[in-house]
Amino acid sequence: MERHHHPIDPSNPDPELLARAGQALRDGLLVAFPTETVYGLGARADQDAPVEAIYRAKGRPGRNPLIVHVAGLEEARALALAWSSEAEALARAFWPGPLTLVALGVPGTVSTKVTAGGPTVALRVPSHPVALGLVRAAGVPVAAPSANRYQHLSPTLAEHVHKSLGDRVQWILDGGPCALGLESSVVDTTTTPPTLLRPGALCLARLQSVVPALALHAPPAPSLEPSRSPGLEARHYAPSVPLRVLPGRDIHAFLRVNTDLTVGVVLCRERYECTHRAPVERLGAEPERYGAALYASLHRLEDLGCDLILVEEPPNEPAWATVTDRLRRASEPSRSGGAPP
Ligand code: AMP
Ligand code: MG
Repeated sequence: MERHHHPIDPSNPDPELLARAGQALRDGLLVAFPTETVYGLGARADQDAPVEAIYRAKGRPGRNPLIVHVAGLEEARALALAWSSEAEALARAFWPGPLTLVALGVPGTVSTKVTAGGPTVALRVPSHPVALGLVRAAGVPVAAPSANRYQHLSPTLAEHVHKSLGDRVQWILDGGPCALGLESSVVDTTTTPPTLLRPGALCLARLQSVVPALALHAPPAPSLEPSRSPGLEARHYAPSVPLRVLPGRDIHAFLRVNTDLTVGVVLCRERYECTHRAPVERLGAEPERYGAALYASLHRLEDLGCDLILVEEPPNEPAWATVTDRLRRASEPSRSGGAPP
């Protein structure tokens, strides 16, 4: 299959190119596109076949629902059977932006494959000019999970999409790096109070500044309840290389002993000096900048063929909650592969 890679200006996208990509979506094709969080793998959400193509391309189980991207608040409300005052307040505060709201869906508006047959639908209005322009041009709701194979690292560059999905995607809009680099925060508005299902680019404190009662979702015991939300699965967002999170001094100790391994290192605080030859990514101790750079640095270390990636433990502070969540899932052993050391 021919691969279409289309460079596009991220701040001022060419309307003609957006119109063609929107037509491709209406025709049932898969279009990968940049958003402010990570690259999305889009398909029209109102038909079964294009949505099935997303699951196939990702190798993702059909039980994991997808986020539906829409052009605005009104379009979102049209897909929701019930829309709480909290949903309205959150949408008004943070849309367009990195917030996904889960609401009861209107049966028949999006494919049952999108919602994995469940009663709820996850909705988001993206702020990236390419993403928003594309959804507008498509004129239909656009289902778009991250544009990567199931459970792997999310893409923050078009190159990552090529690496992960290759010819499984018919269109790639290349708008350069994603500004936030971490997935959207997912809030369930069907509960009272609303609950944060997945921490994301928008931190809990900012969500609570609008809905003070907003609570953290207590994850069910893994074996008891299958994915209330697939992002809650233990292993997710993981590089193909084993990854471990350790205090900085333990990383140094490990490297001193294991000189035969190629170990990629991700550092947070500058004061640690690495004296060995391992590839080192210094992401700094500012959580937003760290989050924006994290996936790209893991992709680089993966591409270098490291045997293992060691990540310096980030500070145990609320501002680091999303980074900590993703690192925990990335370090979860793969069920199919061997356990990391
Ligand atoms: P991604 O892996 O990028 O496709 O992320 C999809 C995320 O959307 C999941 O992690 C879920 O948290 C969330 N999601 C989508 N649909 C629903 C839904 N109906 N109910 C709860 N969470 C959902
Ligand atoms: Mg994903």
